[in-house]
Amino acid sequence: MNFKSIDIQVLDSSGAMVVQNGILVESERVCAIYDMDEEDFKFVCTTRYELNTILAAQDFRMKYLEKIERFCSECGTAMEEGFCFESDATLYCSEECLTKVITWDEYLAMYDNGDGDAYWTDWYDC
Ligand SMILES: [Zn+2]
Repeated sequence: MNFKSIDIQVLDSSGAMVVQNGILVESERVCAIYDMDEEDFKFVCTTRYELNTILAAQDFRMKYLEKIERFCSECGTAMEEGFCFESDATLYCSEECLTKVITWDEYLAMYDNGDGDAYWTDWYDC
């Protein structure tokens, strides 16, 4: 199974620690937060979007301990690739998030065959 894991913490709205040593585990079929202190999965979902929704419903937020500086402007997912809009510095992880904000035709107009200031890109280091 292909999955990636990211070191995270989960905090509540007052900044109190909910999960101090957590790992965000993500694969094609699961997106979950593992609590290393309690050796148990705290949140188990199928997608990052669902996980974000569950966390938001409880006023929890995820803090990434690794240096990830790019987040989807719509759903908050940490991004290694996605749509980038230079005009207002917004990023979208997927077509789904992008089209919640503008239509696909508007995006294509901004993309302008690569000459515009909106495009798909990635930030993989290797
Ligand atoms: Zn998104």
